[in-house]
Amino acid sequence: MNDPTDFLAHAGESPTPAATAAPAADAALLSALAAAQPCLWTNPLLAPQTPSAVRAGAKDISLADVHAAQARFDRFAPLLRRLFPELAGSAGAIESPVLPASALQPAIGLPPGRGTLWIKADHSLPVAGSIKARGGIHEVLEFAERLAVQHALVTEGDDYGVLAEPAARAVFSRYQVAVGSTGNLGLSIGVMASALGFRAVVHMSADAKPWKKDRLRARGVEVIEHAGDYQQAVAAGRAQAQQDPACHFVDDERSLSLLLGYSAAVLHLDAQLHEHGIAPDARRPLFVYLPCGVGGAPAGIAFGLKQRYGPHVHCFFAEPTQSPCFLVQMIGAEVNGVGGNPSVYDYGLTNRTEADGLAVPRASELAASAMRELLSGVYTVADEQLLRDLYLAKRDAGIEIEPSAAAGFSGPAMLTGTEAGQAWLARHGLTDLMATATHLVWTTGGLFVPAEEYRRFLARGEALAASSTPR
Ligand SMILES: *Cc1c(COP(=O)(O)O)cnc(C)c1O
Repeated sequence: MNDPTDFLAHAGESPTPAATAAPAADAALLSALAAAQPCLWTNPLLAPQTPSAVRAGAKDISLADVHAAQARFDRFAPLLRRLFPELAGSAGAIESPVLPASALQPAIGLPPGRGTLWIKADHSLPVAGSIKARGGIHEVLEFAERLAVQHALVTEGDDYGVLAEPAARAVFSRYQVAVGSTGNLGLSIGVMASALGFRAVVHMSADAKPWKKDRLRARGVEVIEHAGDYQQAVAAGRAQAQQDPACHFVDDERSLSLLLGYSAAVLHLDAQLHEHGIAPDARRPLFVYLPCGVGGAPAGIAFGLKQRYGPHVHCFFAEPTQSPCFLVQMIGAEVNGVGGNPSVYDYGLTNRTEADGLAVPRASELAASAMRELLSGVYTVADEQLLRDLYLAKRDAGIEIEPSAAAGFSGPAMLTGTEAGQAWLARHGLTDLMATATHLVWTTGGLFVPAEEYRRFLARGEALAASSTPR
């Protein structure tokens, strides 16, 4: 293959959704889901040929949009370098390493004959400490760039370092950036907005961790607490922002800028995989496991991955057994067509989980529409398993992550060690290729978890690991 994107089906060639009306999710899956038991759903609408553009909300997006987001990060790099001393070593890039993790394979139930384990270490992303550094910061930068151009603070080709000067800060200080968040998105938006000189407001749900609120307040961000869940915090923030024309509300459930900011991760990842000698193709499949909350982060990344690697990459989302909002969204779409936005409460689930970054009752419809034909599947993970994997990741791979970020580690065993997973691999002609497969687990947060809180998670995970049978 000369052109690496030869596999992309051109717009209009992909099978029309109506022609692929899918059977209802099977009864066994639905009962496991409602009983909060770990389960794997695979997507019957997955397109064999990756479309070159997909519909995300009201817009078609393609690889060009991924490059545009990366170009925006590149334009801002000199400014980010000035604002954040921790970015001096990366010339203003906010990036994370890809780590080999074969020592962790036995503990997570992935025998060597079934592929090799790697970690994409977004738990260590500087500035925000989680994957939200990608989407959240991108959206704040896009807003800042629009204002900078409108107010003639920069013209094309200028060094954006000037946006750290008083003239630019005076303009930014007249605007507010607001967001509703369970914690990590608030951290990313709040820190970046206040560093640029915006007024920053974060609406947080009751389940957000106190240390996240404290960290924001210490940076001059206004934190407004809401009694309900994540979705109510977003709704309250959205309503308040609509009253104020000088307020930009970052809408986690509807924002394309967020989604595209996440997608840009793929360009650097591609170079990193290449450096490690990993080049996904028809003989060497790549499996990627992405923790999912509202769906924007994993959908942005999965979109970018599918644009880059087409049918050679297989993307799976991971959700807590009590908060599988993306799974119920995809099943709903499968049964009822694209309409409908069910919640996990509709299935009798509680939305209570230690994985606070994933504690979302209802998925983003924008993310779900982008994933309709690109996502391979979604699986769920019990909290005990998250804590166990948090401990094992420390013991065998030396990394410190938060519970949400451990959700990816169940993926390889879900896929290669369960009946549902093996049946899916067989259906897609992948069974015989597993020895040369790469499994990439995306660890999505943890850098700023206070040491005391991390030690408690670790101790609980260690006790669970000692008392349970291996996978
Ligand atoms: C937000 C978050 C995710 C998932 O991102 P969504 O866009 O909400 O799906 C995963 N892991 C961590 C640690 C997060 O904070």
